[in-house]
Formats: sequence, structure tokens, C-alpha cells
Amino acid sequence: MTALRVTTIGTSMILGEVIVQGCKTSLRGILLRPGDAGYDAARKVWNGMIDRRPGLIVRCAGGDDVIAAVHFARTHQLLVAVCGSGHSAAGYGTCDGSMVIDLSPMKNIHVDPASRIAHTQATAYNILSAFSRS
Ligand SMILES: Cc1cc2nc3c(=O)[nH]c(=O)nc-3n(C[C@H](O)[C@H](O)[C@H](O)COP(=O)(O)OP(=O)(O)OC[C@H]3O[C@@H](n4cnc5c(N)ncnc54)[C@H](O)[C@@H]3O)c2cc1C
Repeated sequence: MTALRVTTIGTSMILGEVIVQGCKTSLRGILLRPGDAGYDAARKVWNGMIDRRPGLIVRCAGGDDVIAAVHFARTHQLLVAVCGSGHSAAGYGTCDGSMVIDLSPMKNIHVDPASRIAHTQATAYNILSAFSRS
């Protein structure tokens, strides 16, 4: 892996390999960069006319990864797009050059039958089915 040019607030900068690796090792989920296997699939959004190439895609496994990604972006002043399911027709869930915080792997649902409260991750769906199974 090599150094990576990323878009920051107002300008761009080079992130060194050690810094990028530090981000990667702070995650339970996956960090993807241009050229990585899975990068092109991960950068796609529902509107096929939106063709953006983020510098970093953080595929979050949970809330701790979201925190780590926000912390990393703030430290390096990266512009960020948050991507839920990527259905925004305008493509607000992605960006060029900077960081996408990708919540699409976060689909867990936990239903507490006693309280009838569901705890869901960011992109969970089929919540009614989860209730009916509990
Ligand atoms: C085929 C289709 C059918 C649709 N049908 C309906 C419908 O019936 N009713 C309706 O109301 N809408 C509908 N929409 C619109 C859709 O619900 C909105 O575009 C919605 O924003 C999509 O959510 P997403 O998570 O996929 O968006 P994304 O594209 O992932 O994100 C959209 C915006 O929300 C932000 N965002 C996403 N998740 C978070 C988060 N957890 N925290 C903070 N910001 C976040 C993103 O940064 C971005 O700015 C439809 C869209 C499509 C493409």
C-alpha cells in the first residue's frame, strides 16, 4: 500500500501509509482504498449516474467503528459523507476523494420481547419481521 491523497476541508493532503494503517487497525470493520478488492462495489450508490471515488471507505461493523472513523476524520480534517443504504437520488451518501462512513453492514436488530422495544443498527430493515419472530 502507498500514501493516499485525500480531500480535506478546503484543500487536499497526503495521508502517509502509517496513518492509514493506524485507521485500519482501529476498526473491526473494513477500510477500503482505491485499488482494493471490493472498493468499486462499495463505492456504488443506488443512482448509477453518481460515480464518485472516495479516498477512504470505512465499512463500519458497529458504533465503535463509527466513532473511530469520525475521530480519524476530525483529526485529519477530512470531508465526510455518511452512507446508509445509498438510496439518496442526489448521491449524498458518497463523495469524491474523502471519507465515506459506510453504515450498510450495520443491520442487526435486537428485540426485547418483555419491553417490546427493538434496538436496531443504522441500516436495519424488516423490523416488523423481527418483532413477529420474538
Ligand atoms: C427507489 C427508491 C424509493 C424510495 N422510496 C421512498 C419512500 O417511499 N418514502 C420516502 O420517504 N423516501 C423514499 N426514498 C428516498 C429515500 O428514503 C431517501 O433518499 C433516504 O435518504 C435514503 O436513505 P439512505 O440511508 O439509503 O440514504 P443515503 O444515500 O445512504 O444517505 C442520504 C443522506 O442521509 C445521510 N445519512 C444516512 N444515514 C445517516 C445516519 N445514520 N446518520 C446521519 N446521516 C445519515 C447521508 O449522509 C446523506 O446525506 C426512496 C428512494 C429510492 C431510491
